[in-house]
Amino acid sequence: MDHLTCDRCGAGLLLDAPVRYEVRVEVKAAYDPMEITDEDLAKDHAAEMKRILAELEGLSAEEAQDQVYREFRFDLCASCRKPYMKNPLAKP
Ligand SMILES: [Zn+2]
Repeated sequence: MDHLTCDRCGAGLLLDAPVRYEVRVEVKAAYDPMEITDEDLAKDHAAEMKRILAELEGLSAEEAQDQVYREFRFDLCASCRKPYMKNPLAKP
């Protein structure tokens, strides 16, 4: 995303295109609303923390961050906007 070229096709966006489009995609972990049950209160929280830390071990800071939140920003030219809008998840 440099505002100068289309991130999909590489076309120039300053002189060659009358308009450019910015795409922002957020991927974030979604959790259900907090509801505390008797089962939650009875949990071994120290063991739960150990389990979570073990899961994070071996991951880089970036990989750990990606599991919670990641934002992507792209510039698109007018020609690439239409196919992107039709299939933003790039389904086959
Ligand atoms: Zn393009």
